Amino acid sequence: MDMPKRDEIVEIFSKAISGGYAIPHINHSDYGDLIAIAEAGREAQTPIIAAGTMMTTSAMGFDKISAIAHILASEGETPFILHCDHCPDPVLCKQAVDAGYNSVMIDASDKPLDENIAIVKDVVEYAHACGVFVEAEVGHVAHGDGASWDANVDEAVKLIEATGADALAVAIGSEHGFYKEPPKLNYDLLKQVSQALPSVPLVLHGGSGIPADDVRRAVRDGIRKVNVGTDVRCTYVAGLRDAIAEMGIERHTQDIIAFAQARAKEKIFDVIEMCGSRGKA
Ligand SMILES: [Zn+2]
Repeated sequence: MDMPKRDEIVEIFSKAISGGYAIPHINHSDYGDLIAIAEAGREAQTPIIAAGTMMTTSAMGFDKISAIAHILASEGETPFILHCDHCPDPVLCKQAVDAGYNSVMIDASDKPLDENIAIVKDVVEYAHACGVFVEAEVGHVAHGDGASWDANVDEAVKLIEATGADALAVAIGSEHGFYKEPPKLNYDLLKQVSQALPSVPLVLHGGSGIPADDVRRAVRDGIRKVNVGTDVRCTYVAGLRDAIAEMGIERHTQDIIAFAQARAKEKIFDVIEMCGSRGKA
């Protein structure tokens, strides 16, 4: 099938809201893990989101990633969404839209609310006109620097009402990357935002290393998109390392990549189970 347009992605999330489950978002870092994400979604019969951070997209290029993603989507019968993750710059967000991404995150969460709103609004107007889904962030989820602050309900409502963004990342105590100590998620805040914005899919960032029961509880309390990056990437890279160690460097590259993809898929299936989205495509 073709990659879903914004109205179809809205429908995918509205089913997740009424069904009480979440859609898995997995970051890819290369072509091999991009393919593994698409295959895992098909095999588990779930809608799935493959996302690239700026590190990945600047190295590989929006156009090349999008071309492969459109082919992967067309090979399957389950919805495959290509998402530009944590894009800080409206110009780059619009480039992702132009390249064929069907979902973008404009992340101005480090800015004061008024600036955040102005930046998100600009991207929403452009993206929606092209049938592209938009995620924004309120509060701030740290990127390895410990600089996190929780969302607040009024700001969440204002950001959505003023911008028309389709999904909202809410900072509730998680961080990007692995944790030294498991995070304490602020479920009360999550429930309050969820009650204030019942039709807006809420997004949990920093999913790597949050205990599975905590992710499931967050999904029960209103999370409708679970983002996992580091955990899958490290599993994929460790798979490459282990394949080379076991098979030797003369073994064909495709065998080594296939081994790492299989490892990555096992980790992606764990995320799908936490989301409760198996069989929901
Ligand atoms: Zn994130």
